[in-house]
Amino acid sequence: MLSALPSSAVVLDSGDRVLRASSAARAFGLVRGEELVIGELLTLARKVRRDGVIRETDIEVAVRKFGPDATSFAVRVAPLGGTGLVLVLAEDQTEHRRVEAVRRDFVANISHELKTPVGALSLLAETVQDASDDPEAVRRFTGRMQTEASRLTAVIQDLITLSRIQGAEPIAEPAPVDLGSIVEEAIDTVRMPADAKGIELVGSGAEGLTVLGDEAMLGTALRNLIANAVAYSPKNTRVAVSVGTSRSSVDISVADQGIGIPQQDLERIFERFYRVDAARSRATGGTGLGLAIVKHIMTHHRGEVTVWSKEGSGSTFTLRLPRPESRELDATRNDNHQETAQ
Ligand code: ADP
Repeated sequence: MLSALPSSAVVLDSGDRVLRASSAARAFGLVRGEELVIGELLTLARKVRRDGVIRETDIEVAVRKFGPDATSFAVRVAPLGGTGLVLVLAEDQTEHRRVEAVRRDFVANISHELKTPVGALSLLAETVQDASDDPEAVRRFTGRMQTEASRLTAVIQDLITLSRIQGAEPIAEPAPVDLGSIVEEAIDTVRMPADAKGIELVGSGAEGLTVLGDEAMLGTALRNLIANAVAYSPKNTRVAVSVGTSRSSVDISVADQGIGIPQQDLERIFERFYRVDAARSRATGGTGLGLAIVKHIMTHHRGEVTVWSKEGSGSTFTLRLPRPESRELDATRNDNHQETAQ
């Protein structure tokens, strides 16, 4: 029974000797030989034996075996019948704490990201009030208010997208998605900012290729990559979207001739709100969430996103999706036909 428990478990006899210990309890160094080596736990066990009251506590144990860090355990100590035996259950909280810390960081980041434009809006509103008899100043400041409001909308929109796809299961009923049309649509939505910078946008190789997935999500992922390619490229360069296949995958690449990404940042750019250059991202209207969204969408599709980049030369982001077998495509097509027929 002890080995089936998820926690480390120890049974002490009436003389404080270890009668049984799960292998986790030994691995974590809570038990050595026939001894429970954590004094705090021993004291607790004695109290429980004396008055029969179940007790809970949190303890930190320096586990040398697993490096210098302390492991934190949620502990529960209970009497076993009236025999003087005591059961000690210790649950490793390290992962739980780590997830909690990530969540806290994320909330702090969101608050900061929302506070900045709201603060700016409030200041601008005051300034407009003061400048009410100067129409030119009013026009200028209200224009900036619009920019801040758009930034706020973009962050909120990205947060909604992220929370919708985060932690969701892989798509249960993927539908056939025509790559030719999503590449064309994604390029179209970025055409205006690209034209403004004289950036040439070209797409190739997607015609006639189909993958299985969620069309709206794949469109979002591709749009985010192309928008970044345009935002982080100088004037009069080229952004190429190309699609290729291997035996097991369909690869969609977005290559730019832009500023590139320093090697040490490459691993982190997919984190929420991570930016290489915060000022630059802000100037281009970035939310810092685009690549986090792309990564989640790819996980959702049992695919992955990879990046190659060289500072000063450019970057290539690749979306790799599983290549569907033709019978899978036929099956989903038939299903869809039947649904429409009904
Ligand atoms: P943002 O909204 O800031 O663009 P993303 O999550 O889309 O946020 O990207 C994170 C960071 O990665 C960006 O701030 C930028 O520093 C870097 N980055 C993303 N795409 C590119 C690219 N094509 N070229 C250079 N840097 C990029």
